[in-house]
Amino acid sequence: MKAGAAVSGNGPANEAAHYRSLAENSPDCIVRYDRCGRRLYANPAHERTSGLPASATLGKTPRELSCLPAAAAAAYQERLLAVVAGGRPADIEIEWKTPDGRRMVQHVVALPEHGPDGAVASVLTVARDISALKETERRLEQAEAMARLGSWQWSARTGRATLSAETCRIFGRPHDWVPDREEILALIVEEDRDWIATALNVTFASQSPDAAFDCRIQTGDAPTDLHSALRIEYDADGKPSLVVGTTQDVTELRGYQQRVHSLASYDPLTTLPNREQFTSRAQHAIGEACRHRQQVGILILDLDRFKAVNDALGHGGGDRLLCEAAGRLRRCVRETDTVARLGGDEFGFVLPDMPPQADIGKVCRKILDAVGETYRIAGREIFLTGSIGIARYPFDGRSVSDLLQHADAAMYHAKAAGRDNYQFYAASLTTQITERLGLAARLRRAVSNGELELYYQPQIDLRTRRLIGAEALLRWNHPEEGLVPPDRFIGIAEETGLIVGIGEWVLRTACATVCAWNRDARPPLRIAVNLSPRQFKTNDLVATVRTVLAETGCAPEWLELEITEGLLLDDTVDVARTLAALRALGLSIAIDDFGTGYSALGYLNRFPVQAIKIDRSFVRDIVARRDSAELVKAIIAMAHSLRLTLVAEGIEERRQEEFLRAHGCQLGQGYLFGKPMPGRDFASLLASAARGAAD
Ligand code: C2E
Ligand code: MG
Ligand code: MG
Repeated sequence: MKAGAAVSGNGPANEAAHYRSLAENSPDCIVRYDRCGRRLYANPAHERTSGLPASATLGKTPRELSCLPAAAAAAYQERLLAVVAGGRPADIEIEWKTPDGRRMVQHVVALPEHGPDGAVASVLTVARDISALKETERRLEQAEAMARLGSWQWSARTGRATLSAETCRIFGRPHDWVPDREEILALIVEEDRDWIATALNVTFASQSPDAAFDCRIQTGDAPTDLHSALRIEYDADGKPSLVVGTTQDVTELRGYQQRVHSLASYDPLTTLPNREQFTSRAQHAIGEACRHRQQVGILILDLDRFKAVNDALGHGGGDRLLCEAAGRLRRCVRETDTVARLGGDEFGFVLPDMPPQADIGKVCRKILDAVGETYRIAGREIFLTGSIGIARYPFDGRSVSDLLQHADAAMYHAKAAGRDNYQFYAASLTTQITERLGLAARLRRAVSNGELELYYQPQIDLRTRRLIGAEALLRWNHPEEGLVPPDRFIGIAEETGLIVGIGEWVLRTACATVCAWNRDARPPLRIAVNLSPRQFKTNDLVATVRTVLAETGCAPEWLELEITEGLLLDDTVDVARTLAALRALGLSIAIDDFGTGYSALGYLNRFPVQAIKIDRSFVRDIVARRDSAELVKAIIAMAHSLRLTLVAEGIEERRQEEFLRAHGCQLGQGYLFGKPMPGRDFASLLASAARGAAD
């Protein structure tokens, strides 16, 4: 029998009435067309929906009716005629506007009705309003698109999946894509494909009712991260019969998760691993080395005098330098090694699986060379060195924290050994650090215990060889260790802030001393006092100097303050204002150790400076090395043009003195004329000089 309804023919009258009543009362629109698509009948539901009385539409084809848009009407008519021609029912979806302006979507089933000869005599259409359903679907689609969450369903009967519009979009396929399992698997990136197939098989085999997994698919240039959740129904044989699921595009979410992870594990400035990540990699390396009887190198690299660079370049420039250094460090080591930024200007290295005879020193040399290459930042050339401390698992420690602590101690040792070098950890270093801490504690009491003393080193007028004054140099008479030179404790005093109190003591003592000398000396002598940058950061330096001058009765022109080059570049304090205020008191200012810092000659005339002291390292080489001689000549010429007084430090030989005098350096200081000496020795020197002058 052919599909479709048969016309009931000559049935009893009450049966006809019965069917008519069904049609008349049906909420669905029921319409009958003849073989040419002309209307034969329309039920009241249709009249209500279309707003057209049945009598007005009878005999007309869809194209002749006004309720459907022209193109839709033509298509609809064609479908009806196809039902007539093919004799098979059809599902049609039509969309139109009702007279009151509503959007109407109907699902129409068109059924061929066969005449007694078996040919299609007419077509009966039953149309159901699915507008509300369509609206719900549309909203769902919107919601899916917003959540990037698509839904789908796979049935064992067809072996294919029906996907929502959003699922199709996620898979980068047209909205009517109806893939089978293989087509979907083909989109999954190769690394994920096998285990997804296995995971599915395991889920089905164990008849789990639900499952979820993450995978990546490749639809465009970049892979898309997906999260899928499945609900599975099984048939009597335990085979999956229906799988409904959702698939969410979580690429963006994974991106955020990765960023959060990287913020927690990586240094945002240099993108190197941070301290946490360093520790966990070191931990891992130690675990591996323990199993394979290998060694692990833990290195700490600290940039030397980075603070001065930071001060000179500003923080932006300092950051750029750190990034550049980080890049160089990364290129120094193997792929399997870790370079991390431990904080500030400190970097850490994990060198795993080093063979027992590996030369860690060679790696360190390479790192130091890379750090030492010239940096070009903001149009300036910057030179930098680093100091490395090395601790090796298992010899120097078995835990990450022990190894780090020991590498740190070795790094401090490298700094103390003159920087730009590396040092291996040795147990004795720990003792040294303890000593350093002990020294700081002792230093605290040194001032009140009267353990500090000033030594005085003569300063000479090179043209006349006459004594013109002295530089006051600090000494510490340690009760157990004897005389401690400033290089061993000034650093600690600066770190701990003790220098501020000590500096004030130095200033007061030096001023009092020069007053005592000048009671008899004609012309008066001058005293040079070293200032630490730290003293500039306490805002009452000017007031302190003024008070000390007043209280000791020292004339301001008898006092010269020595500052370091780095201070002039320090923009965290208003150096120019402080210097101007000091200068206004009537004293003079000298730049110490000139040529060793980041001095640009250009900034000298921006500050009220009267003298520069050529650093000992240049003076030492002027006779032996041509470049040092040329440099000193250039410094002298520059000082002359800026009308600055020059003091040469560290003159030990006559030939150095002669060179300096010949090239116009006015003042000199060094062992040749006298070592730093206690106050009473200097007083006797003065007395004999006075006698010499009198003779
Ligand atoms: P500086 O201010 O450059 O002092 C000169 C240093 O060179 C002194 O070392 C002095 O003993 C040494 N020196 C002088 N002539 C010669 C020479 O002909 N040959 C050699 N080889 N060395 C010579 P010292 O006294 O050990 O002082 C070292 C540094 O400690 C000083 O360098 C200064 O920066 C700092 N310092 C000393 N006293 C004070 C102080 O009272 N306050 C502050 N803030 N720093 C101080
Ligand atoms: Mg000095
Ligand atoms: Mg000096």
